[in-house]
Amino acid sequence: MIAVLRLGHRLSRDRRVSTHLALVARAFGASRMVLTCRDERLQSSIAGVCRAWGGSFSIEVEENWRGYLRRWNGVKVHLTMYGEHIDDRIEEIRSAGGDVLVVVGAEKVPAEVFELVDYNIAIGHQPHSEVAALAVFLDRYFEGRELHRDFGGRLRVVPMRRGKRVEER
Ligand code: SAM
Repeated sequence: MIAVLRLGHRLSRDRRVSTHLALVARAFGASRMVLTCRDERLQSSIAGVCRAWGGSFSIEVEENWRGYLRRWNGVKVHLTMYGEHIDDRIEEIRSAGGDVLVVVGAEKVPAEVFELVDYNIAIGHQPHSEVAALAVFLDRYFEGRELHRDFGGRLRVVPMRRGKRVEER
């Protein structure tokens, strides 16, 4: 099981990016995203996606993120451009087995996060985005298998070379 801890979510200002983060987390194989404050709009928009497209992805709210990090029973990975290159650690992280908590920031991440986790991992050492960093991390972790998963939802895309078709089950 993979969970994503989203640090520093600010209502309205970060909603769009946090929504994209949740969509990517779900589509790329994570089971839940943890927010540090309640955001009804974000939560209901992701719940709507899950109702239509399937899967059991959930959004949880945990204000005490330090406690959540300390209590996590599994591997803790913080995505940061300042960390070790993903290629140097992904096999070790994967082979540890068990649950994985992936921590991503919005603005500046508190310095103690670097100490509270097992791994600080860079998706390259250039600044980019938490959405991109999470997508690449999950894709490398699952070695691409997550993109073939059947979510068993009411709606399903019928792949085609051109045009758009969605089937209702
Ligand atoms: N300047 C901010 C800092 O010092 O933390 C970075 C903010 S960035 C817009 C938001 C988040 O994207 C970061 O907290 C990190 O989780 C993720 N991120 C951005 N670039 C990354 C990279 N090259 N590797 C891993 N994660 C990255």
